[in-house]
Amino acid sequence: MTADRPLRTAEVIAVGSELLGSTRLDTNSLYLSEKLAALGIELRAKAVVGDSRDDLAKIFRQALDRVDVVVLTGGLGPTDDDVTRDVVGSVLNLPFTEDASIVEWIEQRFSRRGMHMPEVNRRQAMVPRGAIVLDNPNGTAPGLFIEHEGKVVVLLPGPPRELQPMFERLVAGPLGSRSGSERIYNTVLLTTGRGESHIEEAIQPIYSTWREETPPIETTILATPGQIEVHLSLRSDDPVKAKARLTSAREALVAALGEAVFSLDGRPMEQILGELLRDRGLTISAAESCTGGLFLSRLTDVPGSSAYVLSGVVAYSNRAKTDFLGVSPDLIAAHGAVSEPVAVAMADGIRSKTGASFGIGITGIAGPDGGTPEKPVGTVAIAVVGPDGAAKVRTLLLAGSRSMIKFWATQAAMDVVRKMIVRDEAVCRH
Ligand code: ATP
Ligand code: MG
Repeated sequence: MTADRPLRTAEVIAVGSELLGSTRLDTNSLYLSEKLAALGIELRAKAVVGDSRDDLAKIFRQALDRVDVVVLTGGLGPTDDDVTRDVVGSVLNLPFTEDASIVEWIEQRFSRRGMHMPEVNRRQAMVPRGAIVLDNPNGTAPGLFIEHEGKVVVLLPGPPRELQPMFERLVAGPLGSRSGSERIYNTVLLTTGRGESHIEEAIQPIYSTWREETPPIETTILATPGQIEVHLSLRSDDPVKAKARLTSAREALVAALGEAVFSLDGRPMEQILGELLRDRGLTISAAESCTGGLFLSRLTDVPGSSAYVLSGVVAYSNRAKTDFLGVSPDLIAAHGAVSEPVAVAMADGIRSKTGASFGIGITGIAGPDGGTPEKPVGTVAIAVVGPDGAAKVRTLLLAGSRSMIKFWATQAAMDVVRKMIVRDEAVCRH
């Protein structure tokens, strides 16, 4: 094992019994995964372990066998159940000494608040031989950076607001300088309106050949209701070439997927649509039933959305559809509240009341109850009335939980508007 072999692989071990319960999630590993990848270090495995010395020792030993960098988070506090420092020192067989400057620093922290340092806090000043102490301006637990037989072991405090600045300031630099010249480059595209298997069918013949290239491009497809993400990544020591290769790879996928692609950089639908509206001086208003305001909530999550969002009504009851939007009770009686004619009347109503370029009407059955054989749970009618007064309407049958159906319905409605704008321009240009 040579000291200058580049660090390429990592494992994160999150320590804390609370992380095994049902209320706390390990988010540190998500943060670290992204930061390590940016340094060219691939996260190969992660573990969550309670405050048990034996369990942690076993998992830590295995990690040392597997990867170049082991990052442990949490369990650096002063109490008996904070075991990380002890276990790492004993597995690596490193003797501990008390670091006087840490004791002094912790004493000062307490005295600034008019308190004496409890004796137990001395544990936090015990440093394994050879470890570099990472000071923690946001808490009492210092971190540790240990180089050991060609591997690196990093101990970071559990609270994200302590861990993140410590990693940025004191860990990223030393790791990056030892991870060689290769970095991992990523790009992503987002699609909507087509199912996962259709996307896979369209792009599999393209991306499968990329695995044979040097360097290979890794493709990952992530499906969520209403959105499919295609992630591309590649490891390279040449940033210019890597970015150019990823861009051309992404373009090949866009050519195969066409207008199903709405984002080339991970920006969400509400932002993409917002920019289309803003750049063209168009405005939008929405009448929402089953989505309960989510459509406008998402649009107004985007800063600056006041430039194009005019107004909205949550017309949940039939009465509200009539009172606020002028939907005729006869229309509702004839077709049902969840129907294309009612969706169009809602869209028309909100558009003419507010003078917006686009009026949206969404009405559906989000479940879990309320479905019928003709209109099962997940039936959603979406209407968009555009600047020329013509309506586009469609009925979808969406699957999933109530919140998934609500999200998906808003996504589909935004996509109708997006396509109307983009297609209109395609027509005008020809
Ligand atoms: P401290 O001295 O601040 O106690 P510590 O290293 O002992 O530092 P822990 O006691 O293990 O940290 O964790 C403190 C808190 O930090 C936890 O209650 C939790 O809120 C948060 N935390 C710990 N580990 C994680 C994790 N992996 N992901 C997200 N949050 C975490
Ligand atoms: Mg703790």
